[in-house]
Amino acid sequence: MKIPFNILNKTFLMHQDEYEKKILEIMRKGWYILGDEVKNFEIEFAKYIGSKYSIGVDNGLNALVLAFRELGIGEGDEVLVQGNTYIASVMGITMNRATPIFIEPDEFYNIDVNKIEDAITIRTKAICVVHLYGQASNMEEIKKIADKYKLHIVEDCAQSHGASFNSKKTGTFGIGCFSFYPSKNLGCFGDGGAITTNSELQNRDFRVLRNYGSEKRYYNEVVGYNSRLDELQAGLLRIKLSHLEELTNQRTYIANRYLNEIVNSKIELPKIRKGATSVWHLFIIKTNERDKLQEYLEKNGVGTVIHYPIPPHLSEAYKYLGYKEGDFPITEKHAKTILSIPLYNGMTDEEQSYVIDIINGYN
Ligand SMILES: *Cc1c(COP(=O)(O)O)cnc(C)c1O
Repeated sequence: MKIPFNILNKTFLMHQDEYEKKILEIMRKGWYILGDEVKNFEIEFAKYIGSKYSIGVDNGLNALVLAFRELGIGEGDEVLVQGNTYIASVMGITMNRATPIFIEPDEFYNIDVNKIEDAITIRTKAICVVHLYGQASNMEEIKKIADKYKLHIVEDCAQSHGASFNSKKTGTFGIGCFSFYPSKNLGCFGDGGAITTNSELQNRDFRVLRNYGSEKRYYNEVVGYNSRLDELQAGLLRIKLSHLEELTNQRTYIANRYLNEIVNSKIELPKIRKGATSVWHLFIIKTNERDKLQEYLEKNGVGTVIHYPIPPHLSEAYKYLGYKEGDFPITEKHAKTILSIPLYNGMTDEEQSYVIDIINGYN
C-alpha cells in the first residue's frame, strides 16, 4: 500500500458539483475583485469564528504583515514569538522592521507561558501567538500577561481554523491571522487569507490597508498594499466553510485512532492541553530516531514531512539576528525529533490502519 503525506483534491471531489457550479457562476457574472462573494464570505467566516469582523486578504503572511502594521509596530519594537514556528510568523514581524524575540515552546508545541515575562522589555509591543499544528495555545495565561504589560496579541491561526480555548475560537483573543493555502484545514484553490477582529476601527483600517490605502476609490489615505482576496477564491471558500465542521470531525476521528492505536515505546504521541481543542492540521510524532523512522516509513510506502527542519533563528534569512546553534535548545531538539504522519480528509479507514500497523511494526 502507498499512502502519500497529503492528497489535496479529495475535499474538492467530496463536493465537486457545488464547487463547479460556483466557479461558472462567478466567471459568468463578470465581477472578479471585491464583490458579493468576498463580502458574504467575510460575514460567514466572522460568524463561524465568533468575531465581529473578518477581512479577506491575499494570504496568511500578508494577514500578519497588515496586523503588525495596523498596530503601528515597527523599527525598535520587539514582538515575542515562539521559536518553533513556520517562518512566516516571524516574517510578519520583520517585514515591519520590528525585532522578533524567540520564546521556547511548551510540551504542546505552543509558546511556553512561563517563559514570556522574563523576555518582556520596555520595547516589547506584542505577543505573536501561533496555534501550531492546530491546537489552541494557553490563551487564559497569555491574556493575563498581555493585560498586565499592555501588550497586543496577534494570533497566527494559519493552522487552527475552528480550534478553541475554553470554548472560544482562536482568532477571537487578539487580531486573528488566517491562511487559506491549499493544504490548510480551510484551504482554497490557490492563495488566500483573512484577518479577524472585534474592533470597528481595526476593521476599517484593514479594509483600507489591503486596497492601496484607500476606502474611496482613487482617494489614498496611506501607502497601502494590494492584499485582496479574489472573488473566485472567496466563493469556493464559502462552500468549503459550509462543510468545515464535517471536515474537522473527520480529522479528529483519524487523530483519535492514532492516539488510541499507535503503540510503540520509541514514539511519543501529541498531547492536548486542558481547556484546549485541536483541529489536527498536522499529527506530530516524536522520536530520537527520527531520520531512521522516516526512512523506514518511506520504504513501507508511508509519506511523511518534517514541520519544520530549520527553526527560524537558525535560518539563512535571519542570520542577521546573530543567533547560533544552542541558543534555543528545546526548539532545536524538536526540529531534530518531530515527524508529521499522513492525516488528511478523505483518508480511508484501511489507509489509517495501514499507517498504524507500519508504525507499530517499527523497532
Ligand atoms: C501557512 C502558514 C503561514 C503563512 O500562510 P500563507 O498563506 O502561506 O502565506 C503563516 N503561519 C503559519 C503557522 C503557517 O502554517
